[in-house]
Amino acid sequence: MDDVGPAHDPAMIAEADAWRSRDLAVLWHPCTQMREHPHELPLVPIASGEGAWLVGRDGRRYLDAVSSWWTNLFGHAEPRIAAAIGAQACSLEQVILAGFSHAPAVELAEKLLAIAPREPGREPLAKVFYADNGSAGVEVALKMAFHWFRNRGEDRRTKFVALENGYHGETLGALAVGDVPLYRRVYAPLLAECLFTPSPDAYLAAPGESAEECARRAAGALEALLDAHGGEVCAMILEPLVQCAGGMRMHHPLYLQLARKLCDAHGVFLIADEIAVGFGRTGTLFACEQAGIQPDLLCLSKGLTGGFLPLAAVLATQALYDGFLDESRERAFLHSHSYTGNPIACAAALASLRVFEEDQVVARNRGTAARMAALAAPIGELPQVADLRQAGMIVAFELARDGDRRTPFEPGLRVGLRAYRAALERGVVLRPLGDILYWMPPYCVDEEQLALLARTTREAILEATACA
Ligand SMILES: *Cc1c(COP(=O)(O)O)cnc(C)c1O
Repeated sequence: MDDVGPAHDPAMIAEADAWRSRDLAVLWHPCTQMREHPHELPLVPIASGEGAWLVGRDGRRYLDAVSSWWTNLFGHAEPRIAAAIGAQACSLEQVILAGFSHAPAVELAEKLLAIAPREPGREPLAKVFYADNGSAGVEVALKMAFHWFRNRGEDRRTKFVALENGYHGETLGALAVGDVPLYRRVYAPLLAECLFTPSPDAYLAAPGESAEECARRAAGALEALLDAHGGEVCAMILEPLVQCAGGMRMHHPLYLQLARKLCDAHGVFLIADEIAVGFGRTGTLFACEQAGIQPDLLCLSKGLTGGFLPLAAVLATQALYDGFLDESRERAFLHSHSYTGNPIACAAALASLRVFEEDQVVARNRGTAARMAALAAPIGELPQVADLRQAGMIVAFELARDGDRRTPFEPGLRVGLRAYRAALERGVVLRPLGDILYWMPPYCVDEEQLALLARTTREAILEATACA
């Protein structure tokens, strides 16, 4: 298992090379400047996955420290989820969900509503709408909020409020409420107008300001925005606790409480995008729990199926649902995707939720998160690490020039990319966000693997910043 050294078998190395060429001849990869292949960035052909490991075609093993883009929860090829998928595929692989029903879709909706965040005194989330991936789930939530007001004849409520530095996906509607320039800027002319409000991001706290004070200040800005524009806004969308794609930036839960109150005061729906932070990532099953709040719409995806299949669920209140009941078809929510509520994906999600119960995952993660904190602390002392932050099973290292946390490395130095390559050579997948390295491992990660991760992170930071 600890065989992470270089590949030695020449036949396997040749095979990996052959896959690389075949790939580059036909594939266009996501989120990739294809010119960087094959030289600057190594393309890594993977043969299989086992627990926290990915096994390369060349025989090398890689620790999947980013859970394959934050999807994987319990390790690769988790046998209970794999078995559930196989069994479902042999009985009912797909059926139209308009006019028809099937057990996995019903059972999963029942389960999700039973475990969803609750707030005393508020009607619980009551209905589940399925989509095929996170971005599609965000589109559903945005369209529902907008359409609900239309159905009531409140035609002025056409805008969304979102946090600066937030991320909600890549489709045009989701991109419109996102604020990561790298993904958004070029498409800006195509995007609907969105009102952005300052992020409560604790990294942006003024000198001497606590995370809590920073959250309060950001909520003050939200209040001013809603005072000015509340009547034009149908919903606010945010990523509770951690802005993941925005660099694993974290905020105090107080912000969620204040935002919840402000949305209520202005009759604005609150959409919680827990696509990345849901399912135990931040230490609780859902991040909203840490603030004791409940959104009007909750978007789930990524870990929903344990990382096996694409699926999204949007949970809505009864009041939202009721706003679409009418004799007119146009007042109905006519959104659909061909594979809405796919039975195999729903069966995978049900199996994943059973693993949470059987293995007491959330409780066990507390121990793992504590080990991660202990191993990360000395790395946080490196002069190149401007900030070390953690939320449960997410640890992030913000790299910057010595001493001054406000001075990033020049983008041309490509410190993050260098760290990525240095880690990959050592058998660890540490795919950074700019110059922010982070750990977001599968929950099955063990002591030895965490030690490898910590050792490699330190070495990768030193190697990547040696040039600067
Ligand atoms: C990944 C992500 C999405 C988009 O999900 P996809 O399945 O990649 O479309 C939306 N919101 C957040 C917070 C995400 O991290």
